[in-house]
Amino acid sequence: MNNQPVSLLIQGGRLIDPSQGLDEIGSLLISEGKISWLGRGEITPPHPGYDVLHAQGLIVCPGFVDLHCHLRQPGFEEKETIATGTQAAARGGFTTVCCMPNTNPPLDNQATIDYVKSTAATEGVVRVLPIGCISKGRAGEELAGLSELKSAGVIAFSDDGEPALNSRLMRQALDWSRDLDLPITDHCEDTALSEGGVMNEGITSTRLGLGGIPNAAEEIIVARDLTLAQLTGGRLHIAHVTTEGSVDLIRRAKEKGIRVTAEVTPHHLTLTEERVTGYDTNAKVNPPLRTRRDIQALIQGLKENVIDIIATDHAPHTEADKSGEFASAAFGISGFETALGSLMSLVRDGELTLTTLISKLTYEPSRIIKNEKLGTLAIGASADVTIFDPEREWVVDTKAFASKGRNTPWAGSVLKGKVMATIAQGKLVYKDDLIKGEFKRGEAPLQRKSSPSP
Ligand SMILES: [Zn+2]
Repeated sequence: MNNQPVSLLIQGGRLIDPSQGLDEIGSLLISEGKISWLGRGEITPPHPGYDVLHAQGLIVCPGFVDLHCHLRQPGFEEKETIATGTQAAARGGFTTVCCMPNTNPPLDNQATIDYVKSTAATEGVVRVLPIGCISKGRAGEELAGLSELKSAGVIAFSDDGEPALNSRLMRQALDWSRDLDLPITDHCEDTALSEGGVMNEGITSTRLGLGGIPNAAEEIIVARDLTLAQLTGGRLHIAHVTTEGSVDLIRRAKEKGIRVTAEVTPHHLTLTEERVTGYDTNAKVNPPLRTRRDIQALIQGLKENVIDIIATDHAPHTEADKSGEFASAAFGISGFETALGSLMSLVRDGELTLTTLISKLTYEPSRIIKNEKLGTLAIGASADVTIFDPEREWVVDTKAFASKGRNTPWAGSVLKGKVMATIAQGKLVYKDDLIKGEFKRGEAPLQRKSSPSP
């Protein structure tokens, strides 16, 4: 794989960039790690010295930005590392990933953030933006040094994996979020209600004899934290929304002008609780897969911008973590590599337009973290580009995953829609083997030293 920065001409693809209202057949030039030119149709390479990547029939869009993933390093390197996690992200078309702080030690101070950033700089293949803890040690008692964490470079605060159940602590965190202008990413779960639950509460959990997690376990905390966001004027970002009731609460809060954004995962948009039938621990996730009715509300929420973005909640685990009884297996899905393939079913079913889907993976997340160089193909932006084939069918082979986490409910399934190449900060970080030879480097001889602007 060519990992050097390249001057690259992406020729003849369908350029879709919601940040510019762009959807047309065109070509894109990349040099020195930035988008240097784009325009309609195919063009003659302006100067020898560009690699040429033929994208006819493919979608060319901004690299995906994921505001919620777990890279597991430091502390849980048997599940994932920054190296393997970012390689998996590249295969999934993600060029920026924001990693959650539930590591060991947790990311609650400058030193741990420095560690993640320096490891990502040397071992990562895509941009890693860390999220810092809300509370010291993620213990939910005392506020972490949020100002110090911002200086260290975090883009949000979260105790994800656990809710911040102490209302006073959440109020303080939201006060800080207002002053620091960074969101609090909220894992909404009333753990007294969800305790013992391993799937959605309903007829299916009763039939399977499994403990249920009611929708109310999520909605109670969503309601509380919207109230606190209103009280403080803080910036609240609701992680992994799964219920119709949560969508209603967020809709009403937005109507009132409360500063809230929200995300939904690919699995909560495409799989129902029925997937748990058969006790497949790969479908065990927190919050749990819900019902068709909830999914319809989530999709409606996306269409109305009540839910702003799609985030993977990539949560890799070892085989041992996921084996054994359903009740005792770990929660989580390894999500980077199947995100696009699963989401494209929503486009084919007419639930979302392709432009909306891409916007929720690119422009909208970049807006939440207020980084206008990401999630766009605008000239001068970081050369983060994802190229995918909306029609390509492929079998999910977990043995071929870059992620150490093989825990996916799509193992062995056929998905339609596949990432074919990913360019991160001007580097080709992933290219699909199946299309070897289709992206040819060619018309222009390769002389990297000359990379003039066109
Ligand atoms: Zn969570």
